[in-house]
Amino acid sequence: MTNLNEKIALVTGASSGIGAATALKLAEAGARVGIAARRTEKLNELKMKIEAVGGEAMVLEMDVVDPTSVEASVKTLVNTYGAIDILVNNAGVMPLSDIDQFKVDEWHRMVDVNVKGLFNTTAAVLPQMIKQHSGHVFNMSSIAGRKVFKGLSVYCATKHAVAAFSDGLRMEVGPKHNIRVTCIQPGAVATELYDHITDPGYRQQMDDLAGQMTFLKGEDIGDTVVFAAQAPAHVDVAELFVLPVEQG
Ligand code: NDP
Repeated sequence: MTNLNEKIALVTGASSGIGAATALKLAEAGARVGIAARRTEKLNELKMKIEAVGGEAMVLEMDVVDPTSVEASVKTLVNTYGAIDILVNNAGVMPLSDIDQFKVDEWHRMVDVNVKGLFNTTAAVLPQMIKQHSGHVFNMSSIAGRKVFKGLSVYCATKHAVAAFSDGLRMEVGPKHNIRVTCIQPGAVATELYDHITDPGYRQQMDDLAGQMTFLKGEDIGDTVVFAAQAPAHVDVAELFVLPVEQG
């Protein structure tokens, strides 16, 4: 089993939901965690929570859409700890709507954060992992990266892109640089993700769905990250599809 003690992790989108829960789980497992997002007050709260369980965290104000901001945060983390062993590419947004509503700004926002943001962070971190000849990249796709749902066309396109990129990345950096890549595809998780839906119909649809089943918690996904990170060094858990039992 890979020991996470002394490992250095970077989690994007750590100010809420899956990212916050994953950062806490990694810290509980012994990793020192760079917690990155735009809302630093939330990150400071998480840092206190991590310290309360005996962990160590560094707050990194980061907008994944801005390569300069990403590079600066990665540099700060590497300068402080000397390595990055685990990257959790988790930041994402999901404003749902039908295509004929032409919420084009929201389409672009999803592509910018979910796809380009993930590319920006990967590009900033990979050189360090290549130098180390070790590392583990987690990419947060979704059930929406496996199948398409009405109203989620653009979101599904971004999460399919994440899955495709993960697979290609794994094929390239595994054999050549000893870097593991895990694509995580959660079903419904109770987080702030649905709060940003501006279409009242789809907002209601998500509320209705929450009434029909017990959603996963962010911690459930955090547990799967720790599971894959702790796998023996020669094992790459390439994909994890994690659903509420009641989600078809
Ligand atoms: P939340 O809304 O709770 O968290 C989203 C996180 O992304 C926040 O921490 C937010 O931080 C961050 N974020 C958004 N935009 C940016 C940006 N430009 N730069 C940096 N960080 C940003 O949602 P979840 O925890 O649910 O989402 C996490 C990931 O999980 C997403 O990729 C989502 O698509 C995926 N997912 C979620 C599922 C669910 O049902 N909840 C199911 C499947 C996948 P801040 O605003 O502070 O910058």
